[in-house]
Amino acid sequence: MARSAPDSDIAPRTPRRFAVPQRGSSLAGKAYWAMVKQVAVMAAVIDAGYVVLFWWLGSGPLAIINLISIAMYVGAYQLVTMRRNTAAVTLIWLEVMLHAALGSLLIGWDSGFHYYLLLFIPTIVVANTRGYAVPLVLALLAYYLGLRAVCDWLGPLTPLSPISLKWVNALHVALVFGMLSALAAFYRRTVLTAEDRLRKQATLDPLTGLNNRRHFETLATHVLARSQRDGTPVTLLLCDVDHFKRVNDERGHAVGDEVLMAIARMLGQNLRDGDVVARWGGEEFVALMPASPLDKACATAERIRAAVQATPLEVDATPLALTLSFGVALVHGVQDLHAAIARADKALYDAKNAGRNRVSAAQEPTPAEIMPSQAAALA
Ligand code: GH3
Ligand code: MG
Ligand code: MG
Repeated sequence: MARSAPDSDIAPRTPRRFAVPQRGSSLAGKAYWAMVKQVAVMAAVIDAGYVVLFWWLGSGPLAIINLISIAMYVGAYQLVTMRRNTAAVTLIWLEVMLHAALGSLLIGWDSGFHYYLLLFIPTIVVANTRGYAVPLVLALLAYYLGLRAVCDWLGPLTPLSPISLKWVNALHVALVFGMLSALAAFYRRTVLTAEDRLRKQATLDPLTGLNNRRHFETLATHVLARSQRDGTPVTLLLCDVDHFKRVNDERGHAVGDEVLMAIARMLGQNLRDGDVVARWGGEEFVALMPASPLDKACATAERIRAAVQATPLEVDATPLALTLSFGVALVHGVQDLHAAIARADKALYDAKNAGRNRVSAAQEPTPAEIMPSQAAALA
């Protein structure tokens, strides 16, 4: 059955001028701050490796710079934990800018420390809205080219041997490749998650998790087209909770909601995988049953009706007796869907008038009712 759980983790967004994602503002925001923490841990570990490497290569100042970097990343991690997100991001920016500058000045532009500055470009473009992205990228470019000019002018202050320099450069290239790949994977995951959330919002009923009315019509069109090709019968069930208003009036709206969720679960358990179930609106549900002749669909409806009558729902530790009424109609192809819904609705109305808690089958339509356009052409 085409159903899935509703997605309740949807928070309203507040307008922001400079859009560092705020903690808890959205799924993407939460994932972003979790990623910032991971980045801080990873960067601290990498810098710890650099402390050892530069100590071994005899570059004491760079080893000390990396020790300071580790302290800055630990600070950034703590700041995110304390929800001081803007301060954390500022500290990381500062660390990368200073580290790139000092590293390049000490052992030269060819060390490749400046590659880390490039990691800011996707971060700026994705995270910053309202026209801040272009000025920030331009400022980064100015800093990048300025640093390069100063490095060219001064030359390395504490040069390494050419072979060591090559290895340091290769290491930086490899790390930046890895970080860019991780960043791209993070953004891809974020987009896919958002897409999934939007799809659920557009197709599912938020209370019951069943298909909503619009999506039901789309799915029904596919099912009917396939059944038309196969020549198999399709039946439509409309189901309405009897005296549901009383449940709300006597037990409260929240209990009413629980009842709707329980009935949705019940329908899901009692229908087949290929059946399409939806919340039609209020306390009404609809199901389209492919490969089901009318008598078989009526028997299924009768089984569900009897099961609901026999098993009072346990809501708030108090049993609640409920009954359902059904209207059942055969659907004669895609063009007949809306007419079949009207026939099932009429049958449901008959079930209500006959005393509720029953299944009523719709009258079969005349050929002219099934193919009104063809009938009009022949007349
Ligand atoms: P009948 O047996 O003739 O169908 O009577 P009924 O009381 O079930 O039908 P009626 O149309 O008079 O009332 C339906 C009620 O369903 C009224 C409305 O407030 C309630 N309702 C609709 N949607 C929801 C919902 O999402 N949650 C809750 N708790 N109640 C809802
Ligand atoms: Mg009702
Ligand atoms: Mg109703």
